[in-house]
Amino acid sequence: MTGPLGTLSELRAQLDGRKTSSRELTEAALARAEALEPKLRAFVGFRPERARAEAAEADARMTLGERRSALEGIPVAIKDNMVQAGEPTTCGSRILAGFVSPYDATVVTKLRRAGAVIIGRTNLDEFAMGSSTENSAFGPSRNPWDLTRTPGGSSGGSAAAVAAGVVPLALGSDTGGSIRQPAACTGIAGIKPTYGRVSRYGLVAFASSLDQIGTFTRSAADSAAALEVLCGHDPHDSTSLPEPVPPYTQRLSGDVSGLVIGLPREYLVEEGVDPGVLQCVREAVAELERCGAKTREVSLPHTKYAIATYYLIATAEASSNLARYDGVRYGHRAANAKDVGLMYRRTRSEGFGAEVKRRILLGTYVLSAGYYDAYYRKAQQVRTLLRRDFEQAFAGCDLIATPTAPEVAFRLGEKASDPLRMYLSDVYTVSANLAGIPGLSIPCGFAHGLPVGLQLLGKPLDEATVLRAADSYQRRTDWHSRRPPEPA
Ligand code: GLN
Repeated sequence: MTGPLGTLSELRAQLDGRKTSSRELTEAALARAEALEPKLRAFVGFRPERARAEAAEADARMTLGERRSALEGIPVAIKDNMVQAGEPTTCGSRILAGFVSPYDATVVTKLRRAGAVIIGRTNLDEFAMGSSTENSAFGPSRNPWDLTRTPGGSSGGSAAAVAAGVVPLALGSDTGGSIRQPAACTGIAGIKPTYGRVSRYGLVAFASSLDQIGTFTRSAADSAAALEVLCGHDPHDSTSLPEPVPPYTQRLSGDVSGLVIGLPREYLVEEGVDPGVLQCVREAVAELERCGAKTREVSLPHTKYAIATYYLIATAEASSNLARYDGVRYGHRAANAKDVGLMYRRTRSEGFGAEVKRRILLGTYVLSAGYYDAYYRKAQQVRTLLRRDFEQAFAGCDLIATPTAPEVAFRLGEKASDPLRMYLSDVYTVSANLAGIPGLSIPCGFAHGLPVGLQLLGKPLDEATVLRAADSYQRRTDWHSRRPPEPA
């Protein structure tokens, strides 16, 4: 079998040194994906012919000495909730069966203009609702570190593909942790930029005020290179931010001296977190201190309301976003319904899985007359308090360090029948979405033989500092270079 592909920067150097071609890398990625797919189930679909044609174009440009970006000629994958013209988008749902997108998401346009080669679309929890990919209508993806375990979710397919060395870069979306938690579970880097940093145009909406696209790579330096391509204002997305995008890679000075890292009192307590995870995170913080960073305790007093607030707001927004799947406009339509009401009902009963239905019901309930004030409005108010917690904490520090997830990758099936336990996987990640701030996860050790993630949260629009600290840490440690065993 073809071995794992290198990191983005390694492949860049090979391409620039004419040691390989985009065509060769694309073939290697496709071959490795195909060989691992029976075990990993990381992908929902491939586009080999188009990928080969794009790789040939990239090779032609590079032969002429033209290089559009750091991603020129690099094989990548995208989560199957970002649309691509002429390709099916399933969102891991039966309800989108047969839907083919007529247009490209802005991130797809950006990848294409940058010369990247999209080889396929990765598996996810249905409509990105979940923390394990077990809610996918196509079955779960598996963790390359242990095939009996989840790679996390909802962007589990993208995480598994990068961790197994199929592609050096994959895109994910993060509404409450869906990039950071799978990155932690699979021992790679995952970043959710500031809300509005990357255009959501063409990202199938889950909870529009929380959704954000970001990347999976092996190193923080590779994330910086990818974000330079992906970030920026988009007239097609009114919530995308107009601020210019800094040259992230040039900000990777390797120096964190003088940076103040806040350690939130409420997150670093033993309760509800695996002691092995906490131990790794504490050691990572100590390493950052040895690099010259300073630490101080900060407080995020409303943390205990974050999960409840998130699951009220996210379900409310999901219930209205998912109203569009009615059997008329997209995908699946129930057969032989004798009137339109029955057609709607049957289409939605047949098309949506149990978790999506649960969320639509919850969301409809919290928005309904008589309950709106008690639940939805209250959640919006608490969201403001959570955002203020961060504003106050960031008045005294540059970054905040926490575990990414309370435990290492859990076994498939372990939480599938207990939604509340599943929701608690998101305890450290949802606040960043509610506050709109950037967050990244990088590997910082192992507990029970499985990777542990360190989460670094930054001030709004300050991805550069988050990436610089993560890169400094990776210059001094080698957790990010550890690879899972080759699946037998
Ligand atoms: N696990 C969270 C949820 O189920 C987050 C999902 C996400 O970020 N897309 O809602």
